[in-house]
Amino acid sequence: MFTTKSCRHGRGLFATKNIAEGTSILEITGKKITQADVDKRSYKEAANALQIDEELYIDFEEPGVLVNHSCNPNAGIKEDVFLIAIKDIAPNEEITWDYSTSVDTGWTMPCHCEEKNCRKLVKDFASLPKKVQKKYLELGIVLRYITKEFQ
Ligand SMILES: [Zn+2]
Repeated sequence: MFTTKSCRHGRGLFATKNIAEGTSILEITGKKITQADVDKRSYKEAANALQIDEELYIDFEEPGVLVNHSCNPNAGIKEDVFLIAIKDIAPNEEITWDYSTSVDTGWTMPCHCEEKNCRKLVKDFASLPKKVQKKYLELGIVLRYITKEFQ
């Protein structure tokens, strides 16, 4: 369904065939680690940990860790572990999700996704425009520990 290859953001995940909206693309796997473990890491490595609770992270393994951020994503994380297509994805299209759907800390990342709605700086979920928060919550692609706070 997908392959990994080099792209402008290092490596990324790309569709190898049409992926219909709603399709589960992959299941996120990795060791559980704590906030303290993440705090010990370099900025770049910290980005490879998926926050799943206030003090808990999944240390993203490949291929999940290779999925890049976009401010106009075509996928999102459901039930904390499934990367799901939120629109139809064409072959060779890069698969992306919005990292803000998993962040409630002060972590930030500059963004160069070049989408029209690019926020330039990826921040926590609370910082998203209300309209975007609502869309992601309705799609069910916000990490559960954040969803709880916004219902
Ligand atoms: Zn962007």
